[in-house]
Amino acid sequence: MSLVEDLRRTALQLAWRFPAFGIAVVHLRYVETTEIPTAAIGVDGRCYWNPEFFASLTPAERIFVLAHEICHLLLMHADRRGGRQVDLWNFANDYAINGGLVAAGVGDRPDVGLFPPTEWEDLSSEQIYDELLRKGVQAPPTPSATNGCGLLGAQGNSKALPGEVTLEEARQHNPKWQQVRAQAKHIGTMSGNEVLEKLFDIPPARVNWRNVVRRGAALAQAAQGYDAVSFAKRGRRSAAVGPQFPGWIGSQARVALCVDSSGSMYNDVPQVLAEAAALSRESEIAVFCVVHDDGVVWEGWFRPNERPERMQKAIARGFGGTCAEEAYRLVERQGRFDVFVHLTDCYLEWPAPPKNCRKIIIGRINSSEPALEGARVFDVQVG
Ligand SMILES: [Zn+2]
Repeated sequence: MSLVEDLRRTALQLAWRFPAFGIAVVHLRYVETTEIPTAAIGVDGRCYWNPEFFASLTPAERIFVLAHEICHLLLMHADRRGGRQVDLWNFANDYAINGGLVAAGVGDRPDVGLFPPTEWEDLSSEQIYDELLRKGVQAPPTPSATNGCGLLGAQGNSKALPGEVTLEEARQHNPKWQQVRAQAKHIGTMSGNEVLEKLFDIPPARVNWRNVVRRGAALAQAAQGYDAVSFAKRGRRSAAVGPQFPGWIGSQARVALCVDSSGSMYNDVPQVLAEAAALSRESEIAVFCVVHDDGVVWEGWFRPNERPERMQKAIARGFGGTCAEEAYRLVERQGRFDVFVHLTDCYLEWPAPPKNCRKIIIGRINSSEPALEGARVFDVQVG
């Protein structure tokens, strides 16, 4: 019997015992490949299997792994990644899925794969990702034998496997999987498997930090084009135009991002930093980040290929009072910036604004406290 036929049989068994997976199974196509060590799935429903891996599993373990792959799609993992680091995000997803499948009693758990410690069993992928960042876990590139499977198409626009779709193409598939997930959840309810039903839940999205960080960056880029002309002109005409800095008319936009980790922001710091790193990679904007509570907790430049474990210090410290003085002066020592963005609940004594930043923006988090005088303010609600 061919691998594809074997997989169809496995799918039938899965759908027979757990009807919630039945509709999803219909949308799958199976691909035999030795390019990956275990299994992987693409958002177009192509499910890749290594034949040796398949042969090493018992029938009940095959059911588990197939359900696992399907869960990546039903839980919209490609879509929920945002700016998170791909391999660590895959890691978090595998923990979240496997915890749910074990609890729901779907098949047998295989020897390989990532299984969450008890205290993570009720956490979402997003929460597990933050925990992994806090612990400084390094995820090997997926798909690999030690790092679960890979969700293909979440990697951006690289095509690792033949026929693999890109994230852009994947977006077209999203409505379909949304629908299948709703049906699966409904069938899960009917079959009385509440754990399974719960497994298909997606937690409400938190603040879209990508957009918040992008807003600052967009202003930085706008400032770049404008200032390159006007500032140079004014500079030629008169010396009395206020402070000028060497390298002001640069070509690369530079953003300083200051994050107050003392209040309600604390839980979101990893995500903000991940978004800043992704933004820097994608747009080639140089981003200097400083995280503060009473003093500077962490500082660093984001460059392409930034690894999140370097950030763990930024999020290892707990709550505290707030003083931005040290952070502001630190930003001043990094050369000029087009935009300075400070995310804070505004419960602080405002220091003198950094003198080396063209625009100062306060992202006011869950607060109506007065912001730094003269700064542009936008309000952000963190749930
Ligand atoms: Zn997986």
